[in-house]
Amino acid sequence: MKAIDFSGKKVLVRVDFNVPLDQDFKVTDDTRIRAALPTLRHLLDQGAALILMSHLGRPEKKRLPDGSLDVARFTLQHLVEPLSTLLGKPVGFAASLTGSETAARCAGLQAGEVLLLENTRFHAGESKGDPELAKELAALADVYVNDAFGSAHREHASTATVARYFAPEAKTFGLLMDKEIENANKVLLTPQRPLTAIIGGAKVSDKILLLERLIDFADSVIIGGGMAYTFLQAQGGHTGNSLVETDKIDLALRLLEQAKQKGVQLLLPVDSWIADGFSNTAQKRLADSMSVPDGWMGLDVGTEAAKQFSAAILEAKTILWNGPMGVFEFPNFAEGTHAIAKAVAAATAAGAFSLVGGGDSVAAVNQAGLADQVSYISTGGGAMLEFLEGKTLPGVAAMQD
Ligand code: AMP
Repeated sequence: MKAIDFSGKKVLVRVDFNVPLDQDFKVTDDTRIRAALPTLRHLLDQGAALILMSHLGRPEKKRLPDGSLDVARFTLQHLVEPLSTLLGKPVGFAASLTGSETAARCAGLQAGEVLLLENTRFHAGESKGDPELAKELAALADVYVNDAFGSAHREHASTATVARYFAPEAKTFGLLMDKEIENANKVLLTPQRPLTAIIGGAKVSDKILLLERLIDFADSVIIGGGMAYTFLQAQGGHTGNSLVETDKIDLALRLLEQAKQKGVQLLLPVDSWIADGFSNTAQKRLADSMSVPDGWMGLDVGTEAAKQFSAAILEAKTILWNGPMGVFEFPNFAEGTHAIAKAVAAATAAGAFSLVGGGDSVAAVNQAGLADQVSYISTGGGAMLEFLEGKTLPGVAAMQD
């Protein structure tokens, strides 16, 4: 991006402002907006006029009872004030993504001005990657900057198709997109060894491709969270009422076998904090993960498991973490996840490169107050997961066409 002269140009920037809002539509976590600021500031400093577009939530799925869009809830108008505070300048708002009024406002934009367009997903063509919509959006600007890493796994009109209507020299990744890819590649392409991957979260089925890939190139793989119990049952364990995907037992056995053949150390929790119900206030005790009584379920990795996992993490030179070690949303079952966050921070302080990416592990590191003690936290949940799985992201591919 820094090679392009943006002065006097109208720049269409796809950002990922898909932030959480509370009941009063106030932004509860502005990480994604902040993450886009370096790109926006660079463009403004260069004298560009900015036309920003993003989606927010899933308005096409969460319609009002009469089938219409819930505009009051999903409008990007909610972001105008927080964005203008962060940027330190007024931000205009176009109440429609397309149409003559929006086109006229874009045409009249002056250098240094910022216009935010309405939610891209209000338009039916967005998620279909509609060429007509993409063409109309492309006509608004001279240059396209894609800085929406969190949306790069979607082949949508504003994230992918639109790029095809700009010449190679008139489109570029933004600074955030560059940083995300560069950091993921530190793990994928040029890892310092040993490389330890920590994989948690609810289900094996969500992480099959990632696990297969990691068993191919990591030195050790730590498996925690709900998904561990499918592996434990596959090894003959009694897992009580823990989350087990019975249709993934064969897969778990195959992955265990693959790890053995490749000499990859695969660590499962030897003990677990088990509960007599899925709640923060359930009765809780420590148990051998291979013998969880009926009526009880593993909701967190145990103290011995956390110790073993931490020791493996401290030996690593490169760390990838995706997914919590337990139901960390319940404070009583967050201990294991926090212990792992501490170990990742300690390994980082000792010189390891650590990437936290994809989903809830980011929230967990934030919750543990250790966000500034890991090397890189990805802003792209699903996109980072797919990138790590080795998939080509449509938002990346479209820039190279
Ligand atoms: P994911 O989005 O796949 O990373 O999964 C994150 C979710 O997994 C979080 O909401 C956790 O509460 C949940 N989770 C982690 N450990 C367990 C467990 N032992 N049992 C049930 N759910 C879990």
